[in-house]
Amino acid sequence: MSRFLSSRLKNLEPYTPGEQPQIKNLIKLNTNESPFPPSAKAIQLAADEAKDLQLYPDPECRKLTQMLADKLGVDFDEVLVTNGSDEILNFAFMAFCDEEREAVFPDITYGFYKVFAQLNGVAYREIPLDENLEINLDDYKGLKSTVFIANPNAPTGIYIGICEIEKLVSENPDSLFVIDEAYVDFGNQSAVPLIKKYDNILVTQTFSKSRSMAGARLGFGVGSKKLIQDLNTIKYSTNPYNINKMTMAAGIGALLDEDYTSGNCKKICEAREYTLENLREMGFEATDSKANFIFAKHPKISGERIYSGLRERSILVRHFGGARILEYNRITIGTKEQMDKFLTAVREIIKEEEK
Ligand code: PMP
Repeated sequence: MSRFLSSRLKNLEPYTPGEQPQIKNLIKLNTNESPFPPSAKAIQLAADEAKDLQLYPDPECRKLTQMLADKLGVDFDEVLVTNGSDEILNFAFMAFCDEEREAVFPDITYGFYKVFAQLNGVAYREIPLDENLEINLDDYKGLKSTVFIANPNAPTGIYIGICEIEKLVSENPDSLFVIDEAYVDFGNQSAVPLIKKYDNILVTQTFSKSRSMAGARLGFGVGSKKLIQDLNTIKYSTNPYNINKMTMAAGIGALLDEDYTSGNCKKICEAREYTLENLREMGFEATDSKANFIFAKHPKISGERIYSGLRERSILVRHFGGARILEYNRITIGTKEQMDKFLTAVREIIKEEEK
C-alpha cells in the first residue's frame, strides 16, 4: 500500500477472480465460461470493426441496445449495456445504495457484491442462506433497502421461480430488487417482463456465459426508464465509452445468431444433468443447480482433496473458503467429452482415497 492511498480504501478487500492459468491441455472448469467458441457472426463482425478502431465507439450503443430491447420486449431506454454485468452491478451499488439505504444480499452469493459495497463505502448486510443453502425470501421483506439476488444464485446454482420474485417485488415497493440473471439462460425464466409492472426491479444479464463472450466483457441491465436514467448518469460520469467497438459488434453478431446460443445452452444443460447424475451415483451431494455449473461435495473426501486431485490431473475447478461451503467444489459444465474426463478423474480420486 502506498502512503498516498485514500483512507477510504485502506480496508478494501478486492475480489479474487478464478485462476486463468496458461497451462496446455488444461480442462478449465473453474470460472463458468462456455466451452464453446463465440458465434461465427460475432467473430466476423468484431474482426470487421477492428478496421475502424481509430474512432471512438458509439457511446449510446444504439444498434446493440435496440436489438436487445426488441429481443427482450422492452423499450430502448429501459436497457443499458455495460462492460460485463460486473459494471452494471457496480453502477447499481453506486446509484442505489448509501449510508441510509443499505445493500442487502445473501452471505453465500457472488463475492463481488461485498466488494462493490465496500468500494462504494455503502452500508451492507449479509443474510445467511438456510440450512439447504437456499435463499429464504421472507428474510428480504420490509427492509427499505437495495437487495441483490443472483438468480440462479452462485455458487449454488439454485433458482427461485419468477412468481416468488414477483411477490417479493410487489409486496415491498420501498426496496429496490436487483436480480442478477448471469445464469438465467440455462433453462430458467427471466424476471425481465416484471420491469413493465414495477419500478423497483432491475434485472442484469451477461453475454459472458450463454453467449461465450466472457473475454469481450458485455453485460446489460433492464429496468424502468428512471432507473436506467440514473444508471446512465453514473455511466456518463465514469466512462461514456464503456463498450469498445469490437465488443459492440460481437454482441450484435451474437444476437443475430440466437439459435447458436440456444443450441449451446441445451448442450450445457444436458451435460449438467448427466454430470449430476454420475456424481450422485458416486455418493456426492449436490445442490439442484440450474446454472452452467454444479456445486457438489463428497461425504467422505474433503473439498480440498478433490480440488487438488483434479488439479494434478490438469482439471481445474473452483474451491472456495468459508466454513459452510469448504467441502464443496464448483464445477463449470464443459462439453460432454470434458465432463467424461472429469468424471473419470473423480472416480480415480475416490479409488485412491478408499485404498
Ligand atoms: N453475476 C454473477 C452471479 C456471476 O457469477 C458473474 C460472473 N463472475 C457475474 C455476475 C459477472 O459476469 P460478467 O461481468 O462477466 O458479466
